[in-house]
Amino acid sequence: MVAVPRLEVGNLPYIRNMKIIVFPGSFDPITTGHVDIVERALPLFDKIIIGVGVNSQKKTLFDLDRRLQWLHEVFKKQDKVEIASFENLTAHFCKKVEAGYLLRGLRNASDFDYEKTISQLNSIVGDGLDTVFLISRPEFSHISSTIVREIIKGGGDASPFIPQALHIPVKTYVETHHSQ
Ligand code: ADP
Repeated sequence: MVAVPRLEVGNLPYIRNMKIIVFPGSFDPITTGHVDIVERALPLFDKIIIGVGVNSQKKTLFDLDRRLQWLHEVFKKQDKVEIASFENLTAHFCKKVEAGYLLRGLRNASDFDYEKTISQLNSIVGDGLDTVFLISRPEFSHISSTIVREIIKGGGDASPFIPQALHIPVKTYVETHHSQ
């Protein structure tokens, strides 16, 4: 008699062959440019893990909890998107969550020069970990978290550059911090 293999969740071919990609960054704060990259990667992968890299040496405008909370808010309707934070090497985080790919956006030639080296290093450190690059769409290529932070610090309106779900939370943040 031929033994029929038991189907356990971890053995299901679909789950075993899941294409998981990590989108790492500071997301300080998340912008419409980031959202566009995630939305365009969604049809290509089974799961996208947005990984907020925690670097104690790097000072951020928004604390980690707030950045995570805003990411949850923006992607709450996307079942394929998970949010997490990690310390140390991105490649090690990918291994931990069983992701075979890294997602990065490219806005211009300086992004490319920087990302090329990092992706080659990640391929070595991450045992063949591949980085998938999506070129920014023209309407988002001028947007960066740095610009958004400068607008917020100056008390300006950053809503054209941040997802709709965060217009009110960010406006509230600006009002409270500029009235102090
Ligand atoms: P990091 O601190 O690693 O630069 P960011 O949060 O600034 O992280 O960005 C994360 C990723 O999103 C990077 O790959 C970056 O190039 C990409 N990105 C940021 N802004 C845009 C944009 N406007 N269009 C496309 N990609 C973007």
